[in-house]
Amino acid sequence: MATVHEAPIDGDGRRRPHARRVLVFPLPFQGHINPMMQLADVLHSRGLGVTVLHTRFNALDPALHPEFTFVAVPDGIPADVAATGSIISIILAMNAAMEASGAVDDVLASVLADEPAACLFIDANLLAVQKAATALGLPTMVLRTGSAACFSCFLAYPMLHEKGYLPPKESQLCTPVEELPPLRVKDLFLSSSNNHEMVRKVLARATEAVRNSHGLVINTFEALETAELDRIRREVDVAVVLAVGPLHKLSTRGTGSSLLQQDRSCIEWLDRQAAGSVLYVSFGSLASVDSGELSEVAWGLANSGQPFLWVVRPDLVRGSDGTGLPEGFDRAVDGRGKVIPWAPQQEVLAHPAVGGFWTHNGWNSTLESITEGLPMICRPQFADQMMNTRYVETEWSVGFELEGELERNKIEEAIRNLMSHGDVMRESARELKKKVATCLESDGSSVLAIDKLIDYISSL
Ligand code: UDP
Repeated sequence: MATVHEAPIDGDGRRRPHARRVLVFPLPFQGHINPMMQLADVLHSRGLGVTVLHTRFNALDPALHPEFTFVAVPDGIPADVAATGSIISIILAMNAAMEASGAVDDVLASVLADEPAACLFIDANLLAVQKAATALGLPTMVLRTGSAACFSCFLAYPMLHEKGYLPPKESQLCTPVEELPPLRVKDLFLSSSNNHEMVRKVLARATEAVRNSHGLVINTFEALETAELDRIRREVDVAVVLAVGPLHKLSTRGTGSSLLQQDRSCIEWLDRQAAGSVLYVSFGSLASVDSGELSEVAWGLANSGQPFLWVVRPDLVRGSDGTGLPEGFDRAVDGRGKVIPWAPQQEVLAHPAVGGFWTHNGWNSTLESITEGLPMICRPQFADQMMNTRYVETEWSVGFELEGELERNKIEEAIRNLMSHGDVMRESARELKKKVATCLESDGSSVLAIDKLIDYISSL
């Protein structure tokens, strides 16, 4: 006879959980929302009900996910902090407000009173939510939306201070961090717009949220970050550490969690371009440039002679009301270049016309590029983007960093190096793409990790 925790086996031979529900609570930023909603979709497709807890700040649109239940949680982020756009300040303010008000405790208690849940998946930056759940006896699981290397760096932060790597000193920026190869001091999780103590506090809270949880789920795959995952498993004592990425390939929904309207006209435009000819350029949802840099990027793209699709977000240019593309640019690139405010990025990267990606190396963009076998020009700005670049360049050999001032001649040369002379990188990217395909097979590491996750949820 089956015990209460044994899950039924479905027609496809996969273990299905009892009809149960999970809660998910993403951090309200695009790069964190996307993987959490993809995970929610994967769990839902395996038979679990999903309730999405969300803040009013950067709120999701429930109409785009009729299959999920949505519950708003007062986040208490002061308007002046929200207006700074500083992710670190917003994380700290939001957690402090939630801890002070007890609002999350009340919402969670009421959600659980309506219907029990097996567990709550939280972003690692939501320690306040983790504590509220624990107080109610609800197990938490953390979804890390960055790389395994990034979380491994978080775990090492106290050691990095003890050994004097941090806070970073100008003279030591190129010093290798022997304990975390291939990183150098300047690749560590740093931010020029926030003071170092704030960063240190946020990372300590993120590791605490993981250590207090039952399990850790990371949007990466085993073959990509074997050593980094091993390191985490050695250092963190939780029931499961699972590499389930790339989640956007396991989820059946391509859209639905975008905060900005995606301009789909670019797909028809790509359909008219030659295979592998287009450079896709996007700096994600948060990175920005000044107006001088925007102009250099524009002329670098124009002068390269290469077809390109460029995402110029409404707030891409710091301290400006508009995108302010330079005079004469439209004429110079007519028919060869397309500028849009926001792309259906995963679809763009998978399009046969796209042959390369100029990226800021947010983890989602990096993983999405690897998934499609595209080589990258890397232009990191803050947080984990520098370490992602370092891995792209030295560990996986699928791209190179564009360093120093943004200057049109250098940009033109980088584009030529990527699109016309990048055969070695392209070959490495193709090899990595094969590894992605393998981990997504029915007995591949990421699919088996999802199986394990479902079993684990069923056992809770
Ligand atoms: N994205 C998108 N359209 C765009 C640019 C980005 O849909 O025009 C998506 C992209 O696919 C990725 C996310 O936004 O899933 C950005 O996350 P990432 O970690 O790369 O960078 P962040 O925005 O957090 O810096």
